[in-house]
Amino acid sequence: MLKNTGLHIKKVLSRSNIEKPDLEAKRLIEAVTGVDSADFIAYPDKEISQEHIEQINAYVERRLKGEPLSKILGVKEFWGLEFIVNEYVLDPRPDTETLIECVLDWVKSKHVIARNDSDEAIQNAGNGLRRSVPSLAMTEELKILDLGTGTGCIPLTLLSELPSAMAIAVDISEEALDIARQNAEKHKLSDRIELRQGNWFEGLEGKMFDIITSNPPYIPDSDIPILSKEVKNHDPIMALSGGDSGLEAYKKIFLSLNKHLKRDGRAFFEIGQNQLNDITRLVDESNLLLCDSRADIAGIPRVVEISCGDK
Ligand code: GLN
Repeated sequence: MLKNTGLHIKKVLSRSNIEKPDLEAKRLIEAVTGVDSADFIAYPDKEISQEHIEQINAYVERRLKGEPLSKILGVKEFWGLEFIVNEYVLDPRPDTETLIECVLDWVKSKHVIARNDSDEAIQNAGNGLRRSVPSLAMTEELKILDLGTGTGCIPLTLLSELPSAMAIAVDISEEALDIARQNAEKHKLSDRIELRQGNWFEGLEGKMFDIITSNPPYIPDSDIPILSKEVKNHDPIMALSGGDSGLEAYKKIFLSLNKHLKRDGRAFFEIGQNQLNDITRLVDESNLLLCDSRADIAGIPRVVEISCGDK
């Protein structure tokens, strides 16, 4: 029965200290049987077939061995959208939603500034003065570049929020790009995203962007053994390892940022715990400008906003 199976799995999961056992139990049962969460209330006595019980038990076994639910079910939710995941891509995380918020806030503020400018231009025109009206950020095609895209959750979420934007998403891993491609198709965004295999800016010579984003690998190598087994055994090491310092990817990216970021554009990077001071120093040494930083819901500085503007 639906209710009893749910309670039983919840108990099994909570014995293994899984953080949200009730939620995970429900999601597992829903994924296998096709019921939805309202059915648990409406039809608590609904029978579950033997075949489904066996499938649920097999999933529970894998979960107890430390495989995250997302990797078992092959999907993870991010910004209210569902993304396909597998062992070749980093699971989208709520921390990265902070980066999405930063980008969207910046786009909105740029739009407001641009609109105020054009209002002024119209007034001036009324006074008999002629001046060109600046283009509106929202009506022009914003060009986005995402480095180390993995599932593609960053550029695809941005495209879903910014209907006039176009994106290029780069990853060194063909397997990851295959997942990003599936996600682009799933969200009907394939015609606005170009997926490219490469190492950071490789192959993008001469291309300029309004927005550059990245959630690069930033875990110092010495910290990898102490990550949870859900992360260290099931997220690709390539997407986690930031070298000895944890900062190696940023160093490489910052070297070429000014060749690809428009003067009035912005770059947004996710950063790791306790990295804000080091990143601030690196930004400075790279002759870039740190415009802002933002903490995630846990209060940890998580995103930096950078421009190439004159100091
Ligand atoms: N946020 C991830 C974690 O803590 C790491 C992701 C990354 O290195 N970019 O497991």
